[in-house]
Amino acid sequence: MNDKLPLIEVVDLHKVYGELHALNGISEKIYPGEVVVVIGPSGSGKSTFLRSLNLLEVPDKGQVLFEGVDITDKKVNIDAHRQRMGMVFQHFNLFPHKTILENITLGPIKLKGLSKEEAEKQGLDLLRRVGLEDKATTYPAKLSGGQKQRIAIVRALAMEPDVMLFDEPTSALDPEMVGEVLELMKELAREGMTMAVVTHEIGFAKEVATRVIFMDEGQIKEQGEPEGFFGSPKEPRLQDFLSKVL
Ligand code: ADP
Ligand code: MG
Repeated sequence: MNDKLPLIEVVDLHKVYGELHALNGISEKIYPGEVVVVIGPSGSGKSTFLRSLNLLEVPDKGQVLFEGVDITDKKVNIDAHRQRMGMVFQHFNLFPHKTILENITLGPIKLKGLSKEEAEKQGLDLLRRVGLEDKATTYPAKLSGGQKQRIAIVRALAMEPDVMLFDEPTSALDPEMVGEVLELMKELAREGMTMAVVTHEIGFAKEVATRVIFMDEGQIKEQGEPEGFFGSPKEPRLQDFLSKVL
C-alpha cells in the first residue's frame, strides 16, 4: 500500500482549548483505499482529529496535506478541497426544510455546477441504490434515524468525494437501525472508498478496517491491523479500553 502517495497526511497536529490539549502532536497518513477506524475514550480527541482533516477544526500547529496540497496554507482555497471530502455526523445534519432529494442535490448544483436535472437524476440513482427512492419528496422529519443517516451518506456521496469521514455515524441511532447504516458503510468500503471512521462499533472495525487507531489524551497511542490490534493490544490504556467495550 505504501507505494502510493497518501491521500491525507497530517504532520504534528496540535489543537488547544484553553488549558486543554485536545490534539497533542498527531502525525498520520491515510492511503487511498484504506478504511481507518479511530477508537478511544470520550474526550480523547477523536472528533477534533477527524474535523481537522477537512479543517472544520483549524489546528493551532501542524499541517494537513490533502492530495499533496497543504490545506492549512492560508493561500489555499479550502472549499475546493473540502468538497472532495465527504463528512457524516452523529446527528445527520440534514436540512429540515428541504426535501430528501433537495438535500442531496443542493451541493452538486451549488458547488459542482450541475444542472438541476443532472443533479436530480444522479440523486435519484443514489436513492435507488439505498432503496429510498420513494422518499425523494419527503422531508427529513418523516424518516427514521437509520434512513436519515443513510440519506446523509448519500448526500455526501453525491459530491463524488475522494474520502469519506464518519464521526460516530451510528451513535445516535436506536439499536435496530445501526445495522442498515453499517451495511451501507461496508458496501462503500468494499467498493474501495477511502474512509476514516470514528466509531464504537468494534465488530465493524474487525470486519472492514484496514487499520485501527487508538486515541487517548489527544495522541495516537497504538495502531495496527485489526487482528493484532484487538488480539494482542500492547498499551495498558488500550487493554483497559477494550475490556470495557468488548
Ligand atoms: P472525542 O470525540 O474523542 O470525544 P473531542 O475531539 O470531541 O473528543 O474533544 C477532545 C477534547 O477537547 C474534550 O476534552 C473536549 O471537551 C474538548 N473540546 C472539543 N471541542 C471543544 C471546543 N470547541 N471548545 C472547548 N473544548 C473543546
Ligand atoms: Mg467525538
